[in-house]
Amino acid sequence: MTDGQDVSKVAIPGPRLLTGGPIAAEIRAGLATDFATFKERCGYVPALAVVLVGADAPSAVYLHQILRTCRQVGVEGRLVEIGSEVTPDTICTHIERLNADESVAGIIVQMPLPAHIPLRTVIDSIDPAKDIDGIHPRNAGLLSLGYDGFLPATAQASAEILKRSGVEIAGKRVVVIGRSNVVGKPAALLLLREHGTVSVLHSKTRDLGHYTRDAEILIVAAGRPGLVTGDMLSPGVVVVDVGINVVGDGTGGEKLVGDVDFKSAKNVVSAITPVPGGVGPLTNALLLTHLLRAATDQAEHTPGRASGAPTR
Ligand code: NAP
Repeated sequence: MTDGQDVSKVAIPGPRLLTGGPIAAEIRAGLATDFATFKERCGYVPALAVVLVGADAPSAVYLHQILRTCRQVGVEGRLVEIGSEVTPDTICTHIERLNADESVAGIIVQMPLPAHIPLRTVIDSIDPAKDIDGIHPRNAGLLSLGYDGFLPATAQASAEILKRSGVEIAGKRVVVIGRSNVVGKPAALLLLREHGTVSVLHSKTRDLGHYTRDAEILIVAAGRPGLVTGDMLSPGVVVVDVGINVVGDGTGGEKLVGDVDFKSAKNVVSAITPVPGGVGPLTNALLLTHLLRAATDQAEHTPGRASGAPTR
């Protein structure tokens, strides 16, 4: 310290917070205009069908946010509620009806499904052209081959928040914790597409810290609060915390936290996404960009429907 400054009074700058809210607001504003133009040209408002099987609490949180985002951009969010005591066939019948419904441009199925429902059967029944969260094998295959398809929105948000915040990915050592089909694996593929040197860790990885300490960019999507602590990070690392966990707030209430122990990490990282307020808000905005693209493609391929809505 120079000039005789009192060290105890010098404010130590915290890490840069990579917030998703402002980016999401910008995307939503563009979408509101684009959907209005779509309606003018095509004569209808496309709907997003959200299929909810049973009433799982975490699903209900996401659901509320998705339907609110639909309202913000002027599209219909159509909730299709199916009780948990159903057969896989009944769910598929509902989805096939939505596949055939021309007013529905996109379909998402809220996870997790009840334990007795085979996920694969449900996923396979979604029309890939309406699978706007990229879970159908066709869209997953397109992503792994590097072709254009619908991307899983959360995974896309974790890459997008880095890109839109000006974080260089090419050539960086990128570590992803989590290998689920909806978040970890597609996030790793997207970061690879951006020329990161990517490692993927999971629950059987021995000594997570050995790998995380080598990361220049760390994406954490494990669903384990406090999994990553400051001592597992190298100074200057950029962290994207995808985890959303509901924990007690110490006063009998609840709060949302990520997978990274923010308190110990914030003194080490150069930038980090907060939870809540990081990846989450961006996810739904990106999902609705996929809805616009799906609606536009469908309008162009349906005889008698006006086309020419903007693409995004
Ligand atoms: P998931 O299907 O449960 O997958 C979790 C992944 O983390 C698995 O690959 C698992 O490994 C790995 N894992 C679990 N414990 C681990 C540990 N101790 N060490 C290393 N790896 C571990 O969860 P998900 O659907 O991918 O979601 C991940 C998190 O993201 C959750 O907190 C979820 O709530 C959140 N999420 C956020 C958004 C958003 O918009 N921000 C959207 C969706 C999900 P194995 O494969 O070996 O089991």
